[in-house]
Amino acid sequence: EVRVRIAPSPTGDPHVGTAYIALFNLAFARHNNGKFLLRIEDTDQTRSTKESEQQIFDSLKWLGLNYDEGPDVGGEFGPYRQSERFELYSRYAKELVDKGMAYYCFCTPERLENLRERQKAMGKAPGYDGHCRSLSKEEIETRLANGEKYVIRLKMPYEGDTIVKDVLRGEVKFENNKIDDQVLLKSDGFPTYHLANVVDDHLMGITHVIRAEEWIASTPKHIQLYKAFGWEEPVWVHMPLLRNQDKTKISKRKNPVSLNYYKEEGYLKEAILNFLGLMGYSIGNNKEIFTFDEMVESFDFDKISLGGPVFDLVKLGWVNNQHMKLKNLDELVELAKPYFEEIGYINKELTDKEYKALRRVIEILRDGATTLKELATKSKIYYEDNFELPVVTEEMNRKERKSVERVLKALEDEVGKKAINLFVEKIKMESENISEDRAKEILNEIMEELGEGPGKVLMPLRAILTGEGRGPELYGIIAVIGKERTLKRVENTIK
Ligand code: ATP
Ligand code: GLU
Repeated sequence: EVRVRIAPSPTGDPHVGTAYIALFNLAFARHNNGKFLLRIEDTDQTRSTKESEQQIFDSLKWLGLNYDEGPDVGGEFGPYRQSERFELYSRYAKELVDKGMAYYCFCTPERLENLRERQKAMGKAPGYDGHCRSLSKEEIETRLANGEKYVIRLKMPYEGDTIVKDVLRGEVKFENNKIDDQVLLKSDGFPTYHLANVVDDHLMGITHVIRAEEWIASTPKHIQLYKAFGWEEPVWVHMPLLRNQDKTKISKRKNPVSLNYYKEEGYLKEAILNFLGLMGYSIGNNKEIFTFDEMVESFDFDKISLGGPVFDLVKLGWVNNQHMKLKNLDELVELAKPYFEEIGYINKELTDKEYKALRRVIEILRDGATTLKELATKSKIYYEDNFELPVVTEEMNRKERKSVERVLKALEDEVGKKAINLFVEKIKMESENISEDRAKEILNEIMEELGEGPGKVLMPLRAILTGEGRGPELYGIIAVIGKERTLKRVENTIK
């Protein structure tokens, strides 16, 4: 049975890289009817926090990256938090000592510091020199009995290579003499990442380790650990790293990396999964918009390519727009509502009429919006009746100034004034609810009666109703806001 995992450390905000790696693990697991599990690697007690752990749970659930086993869902291979497995690690480290595959090291921090200095001075790469590797049994026993502090180190072979057989890269060779005798157990009794990770992957029955490329340098150490224990190593798959535009590893300074950000901005989970599924992966037939189920269905490691995928927010915006358009409208309204509430455009409880208006606004705006938040921020013309007419300011560029001037000029225009009067007259005769068709009719009648086209007629009406030179269809706005507010807007702007 396929068993895969993600093993994030609960330090800081939930990382978009965690979601990326989770997605590929889960797609692979589902494709093979296997299990996907979450293990919390909180051995670094100074940096790990409960809040961060909770945020990992929450973001994975938000995205629908549901794990079959984990700290908060249980499972047969638990506990799934390394902090709850501590006594295991020292037991396994000591087992390796007994087997002669690892050793006690009593070197003091001062000696190690000294060693580093000397190596530096000689232009040598830093690394442990094996000083304690051949201490006699008696000496070890005496020093332990004296209560001297120690770490446990893995005996790396001095010669030969360790080959990482990576599914995506083929064989990657590492020279053993360049790899340090890894610390497995620290002097405070805590395991290192390497030991805890390998012990847990083994005990949890992990068959494939699918993780970010940044860990590949650790893999030969892990392979040596598997060998030392006499365990079978898992299959290795190192995913390309997400990159900034400049191809450096994605970083806070250049891209938002917290999943909280994407949730708050109003990206749909479907879009995030789709977008992450485009990173270094092509589902086939140049298809760019797909669902998670489609990804599962056709999942194949062969479709992963190693050129560092660029995490491009513009592209994400496009993908999100596509998914907003695909989404059932009422569902989209539910998701977008909080953003409208936050700006103060709507209340929590909506009347039927308000709901309908909101629904229509979203239907109109979703064509051009990249996030749920943008649906709300772009809906100003539907919700703000008391706007000021624009004025030309110093900071405006030529294009902006021109468009404001156009608005103001349209309002001064004789035909424009007539159009506005006629419009007011006609709207007054309507009932409160004006359909889009009816609004369109009214606008056409005005053009006909004045013998003028949209430029002369609609431009001033748009200006007086929205204060802007362009925007969504005018009849849609009239229908959404209704008779009263339409008239109020005209009054407000004419004064
Ligand atoms: P640091 O700021 O310490 O470099 P980080 O950016 O690597 O941290 P972590 O919190 O260590 O962030 O990473 C969380 C998870 O996301 C880890 O499993 C890591 O392998 C993965 N990850 C981090 N950066 C990337 C990336 N650029 N591409 C893919 N996965 C990543
Ligand atoms: N704790 C590591 C991380 O933060 C686990 C890496 C791995 O998957 O082995 O991602």
